[in-house]
Amino acid sequence: MNAADFSIAQLKSAYASGDLSPEDALRSIASSIDAKDGDIGGYLSYDLDLALADAAKADLSLPLGGVPIAIKDLINVEGHPCSCASKMLEGTYQSPYDATVVKKLRAAGAIPFGRTNMDEFAMGSSNENSGIKPCRNPHDLDRIPGGSSGGSAAVVAANTAVASLGTDTGGSIRQPASLCGVVGLKPTYGRVSRYGLVAFASSLDQCGPMTKTVADSALLLQTIAGSCDRDSTCLANEVPDYTSVLGEDIAGLKIGLPKEYFAKGLDPAVKEKVEAAIKQLESLGATPVEVSLPNTEHAVATYYIIATAEASANLARFDGVRYGHRAESDDLIGVYEDSREEGLGAEVKRRIILGTYVLSSGYYDAYYLRAQKVRTLIRQDFMNAFEEVDLIASPVSPTPAFKAGEKASDPLSMYLADIYTISANLAGICGISVPCGTVDVEGKALPVGLQLLGKPLGESKLLKVAHAYEVS
Ligand code: GLN
Repeated sequence: MNAADFSIAQLKSAYASGDLSPEDALRSIASSIDAKDGDIGGYLSYDLDLALADAAKADLSLPLGGVPIAIKDLINVEGHPCSCASKMLEGTYQSPYDATVVKKLRAAGAIPFGRTNMDEFAMGSSNENSGIKPCRNPHDLDRIPGGSSGGSAAVVAANTAVASLGTDTGGSIRQPASLCGVVGLKPTYGRVSRYGLVAFASSLDQCGPMTKTVADSALLLQTIAGSCDRDSTCLANEVPDYTSVLGEDIAGLKIGLPKEYFAKGLDPAVKEKVEAAIKQLESLGATPVEVSLPNTEHAVATYYIIATAEASANLARFDGVRYGHRAESDDLIGVYEDSREEGLGAEVKRRIILGTYVLSSGYYDAYYLRAQKVRTLIRQDFMNAFEEVDLIASPVSPTPAFKAGEKASDPLSMYLADIYTISANLAGICGISVPCGTVDVEGKALPVGLQLLGKPLGESKLLKVAHAYEVS
């Protein structure tokens, strides 16, 4: 077996038994990337020499000692490129520092290895917005891996990585995890530091693990969670031992099924898989209870106002002067205009224009302010539901992975693919996607994910239930 085939737990036991060293593991992961990633496009780059230098110092007694983790290309790793899959930053920017999550990974002994492909600046649901190269679904190369953390999901699914980090602003960890058949966890807003992540929508962004197993997810979350004095939105609450709850009984837990999430638009084959997974939870002693999240229908519109507004401000720095590609021009305005025109892709420009519009005087009250009020209602819906139930279960994506090109020319249909994931970001709660089988489409077995959503800081319960399901 190649080291890239292993889960984190398996790799650690191979190290413990002396069967494998971190240097050997890195070399064999690099060889599996070279062999397989040409067709998939999950990686933008990797630097074996830098990683080998880290491996030589690896302390195998640490929780992630010598474990290579692939990193989404918007998370800063000192000395590495950080392009956000944008022509704006490709070849012009190298990280001068480690993001807090990377610092925490290193402190636990892990080795950041490989930069994963994504939609440009994390805007998209299919990876087709990558400004650098396409990324495809390892289960069917004609199909998309999801997005925006499509590369981070594809490399774990293709066994060209042991585990990865992604980010989730409206579903970008959970949706690609679901479409590629891996475990993807979006922590509660504030559970994980955002320092050193290139910001898309600062009130929604969270970083989280993408792994082969729930136990690996718990271990990675354990490592990256916790306070950060460089991110004032990062919570100081103590980090519980997420791995100790795995294996606990789930009998007696109430699982809410939002009626709005099982309604029209949901592919019948996906619905069947998700319902079978819920039956399985029932057989483990959980009780399904119907709940309502009445403001669900407003979630996509609300998200695309708030996320674009924040993006228009966050992306102002990519102007060829402060950061990024700099166009030749005779005058200052020309430098700004041409740098952004040449450096940014169509979807990113669309979002900046939308975001600028909803913040402009005259439209601010009608769009932005109203969206903030609806956001509060959406959060309230969840809080009301969590008065009655411990967790919420639902599909992650209304369909399995779609064909590359299928939605590329219709941004609105792409936005609707996020219908079940976006609300969790607006509400600031936590969520996980766990593989729950495959559906047959045109002769290919395409993965489906079960989404579990939990209260703010309810990650332990999410992981416990996800693990119970996974091993059942
Ligand atoms: N697909 C959503 C979007 O395009 C979510 C992206 C994300 O979570 N980064 O905005």
